[in-house]
Amino acid sequence: MAFNKISFEESLGKNVVAAERCIGCGTCILVCPYNCLEYREGIPVIVKECKVCGICARACPQNEWSQSEVEKAVFNREKQPSEEFGVYRKLVIARAKDEAVQKVAQDGGAVTALLTFGLKSGIFDGAIASGKSRDKPLYPAPMLATSLSEILEGAGTRYTYSPNILALAEAVKQKKHSLAFVGTPCQIRAVRKLQMAGLKRYTAPIKLSIGLMCSESFTYEGLIEGYIRGKLGINPEEISKMNIKGKMLVTTKSGVKAIPLAEVKPYVRKGCGYCQDFSSELADISAGGLGLDGWTFIIIRTETGEKIFESAEKAGFLETRSPDEKEPAMNLLLKLSSKKRKAPAA
Ligand SMILES: Cc1cc2nc3c(=O)[nH]c(=O)nc-3n(C[C@H](O)[C@H](O)[C@H](O)COP(=O)(O)OP(=O)(O)OC[C@H]3O[C@@H](n4cnc5c(N)ncnc54)[C@H](O)[C@@H]3O)c2cc1C
Repeated sequence: MAFNKISFEESLGKNVVAAERCIGCGTCILVCPYNCLEYREGIPVIVKECKVCGICARACPQNEWSQSEVEKAVFNREKQPSEEFGVYRKLVIARAKDEAVQKVAQDGGAVTALLTFGLKSGIFDGAIASGKSRDKPLYPAPMLATSLSEILEGAGTRYTYSPNILALAEAVKQKKHSLAFVGTPCQIRAVRKLQMAGLKRYTAPIKLSIGLMCSESFTYEGLIEGYIRGKLGINPEEISKMNIKGKMLVTTKSGVKAIPLAEVKPYVRKGCGYCQDFSSELADISAGGLGLDGWTFIIIRTETGEKIFESAEKAGFLETRSPDEKEPAMNLLLKLSSKKRKAPAA
């Protein structure tokens, strides 16, 4: 397919990064064949003379995005206006059966259960997800997990941005051919944009995309260093869990500190202001907490997602129940989806 060859500076540098519309997904860095870009403080920075191949502009999900074209490619049709949280086949509330998974997971551990099922059964030869940095507590590090222990280590939510897309480079290097990809809505969009751009080297191995529901994510420097360590005087190393359930809940040995969301708003990443997708509408399976306690709310969107989810359930990795009409999580899903849809488009 013919496309414009335009430099990084003239395309993404000007219209996405300088315009503060960059979501920091790292796709441009992943695809640059000449390694001209590096990831620094959440954005791409040019470190070598651009060779004007134009691939970064073609791959960036914040550049020339057509929601309807992508929906047609993924679901064979566009979303109807009444489908407030996107196209789906089935809604389920699920949790991991394994207590060891429940202990480390953010909500019901359904995401981790799907990954462990896939790896154990040989459906996946790896999972792209977020791990934890060895040097910086609570700092998310994109990872290619190939063992159950790595998947368990990455369970739980880091509310600062983890450009999981970058770990696809390692998967390509290791010649993985059957991957699960876990990411926030913007990262699922990035995967879909790579697919639309025909960059099969990166997308052919992805067999399942699991999208996390996401209202926003925060800068590490602002939230963890500035606010939690600086203002609250909490050492991030002592935090065993962070969660958002109406308030930001920070768990340490001394108990749970509840922080009003308005207090942490200043540390939200700028790019999140351009995201209209709360529930990862383009994923095969979406997963969120939605105020549930110890369970994950699951939206199964594609046939692939349905098959793998059902196999994991049959194999005893997941237990499920159906959300009823009065389920508060349903109202929250509708409310958060409609709130995010009001953001300016990318
Ligand atoms: C930044 C962020 C904001 C979120 N906001 C909301 C929200 O507003 N409402 C809501 O209902 N749910 C939100 N979620 C989703 C929620 O926190 C859980 O991830 C989801 O409910 C799945 O729970 P689980 O127990 O099944 O996941 P687990 O089994 O614990 O697995 C979680 C998976 O997420 C990956 N992960 C962890 N941190 C990140 C990260 N920063 N970026 C990408 N991948 C990551 C892990 O590697 C792991 O594979 C958010 C998630 C993130 C990352």
